[in-house]
Amino acid sequence: MRDSDSNGLQIFLKHLSQNFDTKRHFFLKLMTKVIPNKKRLDYLCSRNNLSHQMNESGIKNPSASLSKIGLNHTANAYWNLSPAELVEHTISRGLGVLADSGALVVDTGKFRGRAPKDKFTVRDEKTANTVDWNNVNFPIEGEVFDKLYQKVLNYLSSKDIWVRDNFACADPIYRINIRTINELPWGNLFCDNMFLRPSLEEIKTQEPDWIIINAPKFLADPAVDGTREKNFAMIDFTKRIILIGGTGYTGEMKKGIFTVLNFWLPQEKGVLSMHCSANVGKDDDVAIFFGLSGTGKTTLSADPDRRLIGDDEHGWTEDSVFNFEGGCYAKCVNLSAENEPQIYSAIKFGSILENIEFYPGSRKVDFTNISKTENTRVSYPIEFIDNIMKPSMGGLPKNIFFLTCDAFGVLPPISKLTPGQAMYQFLSGYTAKVAGTEAGITEPQLTFSTCFGAPFMPLHPTKYAEMLGEKMTKQKVNVWMINTGWSGGSYGTGKRMKLSYTRAMITAALRGELDNVQYQAHEVFGLMIPQTCPNVPAEILNPRNTWADKTLYDTKAANLAVQFVHNFEKYADKANAEILAAAPKVNAKV
Ligand code: ATP
Ligand code: MN
Repeated sequence: MRDSDSNGLQIFLKHLSQNFDTKRHFFLKLMTKVIPNKKRLDYLCSRNNLSHQMNESGIKNPSASLSKIGLNHTANAYWNLSPAELVEHTISRGLGVLADSGALVVDTGKFRGRAPKDKFTVRDEKTANTVDWNNVNFPIEGEVFDKLYQKVLNYLSSKDIWVRDNFACADPIYRINIRTINELPWGNLFCDNMFLRPSLEEIKTQEPDWIIINAPKFLADPAVDGTREKNFAMIDFTKRIILIGGTGYTGEMKKGIFTVLNFWLPQEKGVLSMHCSANVGKDDDVAIFFGLSGTGKTTLSADPDRRLIGDDEHGWTEDSVFNFEGGCYAKCVNLSAENEPQIYSAIKFGSILENIEFYPGSRKVDFTNISKTENTRVSYPIEFIDNIMKPSMGGLPKNIFFLTCDAFGVLPPISKLTPGQAMYQFLSGYTAKVAGTEAGITEPQLTFSTCFGAPFMPLHPTKYAEMLGEKMTKQKVNVWMINTGWSGGSYGTGKRMKLSYTRAMITAALRGELDNVQYQAHEVFGLMIPQTCPNVPAEILNPRNTWADKTLYDTKAANLAVQFVHNFEKYADKANAEILAAAPKVNAKV
């Protein structure tokens, strides 16, 4: 700074400290310089030939209006902005930054994962006797929803909002149109990344079947609003509205629509909805990968030799498998170009990175840094993956994989299931995760989540299981169980299965290379273990061989069997003899 400037500044500052009003004026002036204002954004919109009506901008169906849904809005409403505009809006408002890859980086705030206990379904005529009210499907009365809905709309009425039209279901027969109203611009971009994207022409006539209202900064008052906490995700199947508040975690929107489809497709369309990824080989053979969070659906379905159908949610019709979504939502923890090249290179301009950290002093993402959460994520449109099916559909599955991340290290890394075992495992939905990253916690957390997706399944699990059973018997399909979790001991002693081995096992199964090898039944679980597998050391195929302490293995296996049997008691009266015979053997001594 030059001397004269410095003198001038000192005189100015002295003057400011004497005159409060001038000070305020100065700061206001400064603010308008720093923050790009509405006029500038409007100008940019008009340069892009976007329609401009009152305080609404962007592209929309001329008959679409916010007042139709009860939102008497007085601020700016940005309709169907492009990803570039949404990135600009996010950054200019200080709500995100760019990574060196060009991806937008955001912090979702207090919530960095879903809050399953705060997810409610309106109990009314449509749902009272159809929804399986249990520890993941919590009822809420219509009046409670209506009041909160109005409160959220009042809250949004004076705020800038971002509105967009998308759809779900790649098979046009089952298409549902979704309109999302977001309080934050990056939330709106997430929807565009994850749902399917209509053309500009389609938008001009599109009417929504479902509406998502997403107000992360609105906090409910549990005492007044009937929620459990300040955050909530509510579904009203009659009004076809998903209302989300108090949480910025984007997965709530995506899994909200998944829940809707899990209600509607099996009941009304005879389509089995599934929490699975799917891909197609060169011979058009379709494989699907069921699994709970973190078991490997996204990672293992991204296979350069196979075209990706989708990474998380699919429907199985009479003659096809189709993706519900238009994007992927991948975990980022320890992501590397070597291990997961397809996902790694999908992180570019248009992608959104959630809750990651940079290497200090840089904009290079440190994927090993999970100080905010282990659940660091990236969302991107499916087209960011090189080898995909267009549209996201394939024929009937030839292979089904059940993925489990068994941190007890008991289950084999690959095994083949009989139809009875397949049904038993599907209803059980087992996985065991590492309890946490806190020091001293070494015992894995056991989860039984039916259909490999209980939190998103509004109907009774047997509805989905029966449909899967019918479909599996109608056509010849191989069912495999893959343990992507621990080997050589439980968490703490053993290690997680090498990703390259898991990939090799899946490739071998898909190529038919495990059709003519020898198998041996697991002593407790009865699952058939191949004795050899190309590109995998034979000694790791039987988990017991990998444990130094065989007695400890037997104890762990027996304990796990007890847990399986105990968990299955609730389905016992609905299961036939073949399914019941697939239960693990419980050793009376345990
Ligand atoms: P969600 O339903 O939450 O999206 P997901 O089933 O898609 O979960 P992934 O995102 O694929 O789970 O996560 C699997 C994680 O486990 C990845 O971070 C991957 O790198 C890691 N991993 C480590 N070893 C293996 C393995 N042997 N097989 C699969 N994934 C592995
Ligand atoms: Mn996934």
